[in-house]
Amino acid sequence: MVHTHNPEGIDPATTVTMIMREQGISSLPRNYELVYQFLNTSNAALIRDYSALGRRPTQSQLDDVGKKFLPHHHGARTVERARDRVSDEIRGMIHLFKQDQSMLERYSTLLGETSSQMSGARTPGPDALNGLARTLSSATGETQTKSQAFVDQMNAHAREMAALRAELEEYKRLASTDPVTRLSNRRAFDQRLAAIYADETSPGHHALLVTDIDHFKSFNDTYGHQVGDRVLSVAAAMMQNVLGADVFLARTGGEEFAIILDRTNLQAAADIAERIRLAIQSTPLKNQHDGVDCGGITMSFGLCMAIDTSSAEELYKKADMALYEAKKSGRNQLKIYTPTMKRVRAFFKR
Ligand code: GH3
Ligand code: MG
Ligand code: MG
Repeated sequence: MVHTHNPEGIDPATTVTMIMREQGISSLPRNYELVYQFLNTSNAALIRDYSALGRRPTQSQLDDVGKKFLPHHHGARTVERARDRVSDEIRGMIHLFKQDQSMLERYSTLLGETSSQMSGARTPGPDALNGLARTLSSATGETQTKSQAFVDQMNAHAREMAALRAELEEYKRLASTDPVTRLSNRRAFDQRLAAIYADETSPGHHALLVTDIDHFKSFNDTYGHQVGDRVLSVAAAMMQNVLGADVFLARTGGEEFAIILDRTNLQAAADIAERIRLAIQSTPLKNQHDGVDCGGITMSFGLCMAIDTSSAEELYKKADMALYEAKKSGRNQLKIYTPTMKRVRAFFKR
């Protein structure tokens, strides 16, 4: 399958960081995204273009590759722009605090001077008292007005920060969404899978189903890439429809998807795979634009229970191994990971 560039046994985030460090790539979110995609994509053109960058790619070379292959690459700048705006807002607030502080210091000095004048004179005359009262009253009024301005400006900063927060939340959503199918993307999937093992109380109750459209290359070759894209999103919708909206379904690669089932068992998970398989197999595909009949597609499935594994990487690898068996056995079927499968593969690799 796809993950041949990824050194085994190291988590994806560490691998990305290692590569970035080795190539001297600055740690911008868009660079992180690009390297991550390079490691996980099945897109041969992206792999080729990235590999051609050489040992010390410049930022503009990286951006050229990013713009070509990553739909959110421009959007990634949003994060950097937002970060700059947050810094500006914070600088603005610090400036305000400093102003407010020096204003209060002046007021406090004035109070100090006034009180020492009062205690210095044995019995201050009425004129002196009136003068002091005027000074204090004007200083207090001025301080109050300035304090109100300070509060108004702080409120304006708070509003701007809230808007920025909403913007970043939206970007976060985009960064974990696949634009073609609107499903979660590989990044979101990796996080979700890792979370199973972070919660040590119940890794056994989860199942991972990985699935891949059969002979999709020839489907694309026959009907064109655009129709292929449309089919990807139709297949995604059909799967989500069988699963229900609450079940986690992600597009993990070109024509590959993954389903994480919580609180399940082997039989229930296998039943779900079978229901999806039948739904996909029995749905005829017709091009909405020209009415051309595109026949249909089928999908192969691999299933592994989390209880048979001790890490997210292992779970994925084993489900993928089962998928590979399903492909080898004639496609359009489900295979379940069993320890025998591993032994048989190890035997043939010798
Ligand atoms: P198999 O049954 O063994 O899975 O065969 P396959 O042809 O589906 O698999 P292969 O890995 O040889 O080719 C995958 C194809 O999926 C290649 C490419 O044409 C197609 N594909 C990958 N990503 C996309 C995409 O984003 N859009 C479209 N339209 N096609 C894609
Ligand atoms: Mg395929
Ligand atoms: Mg594939």
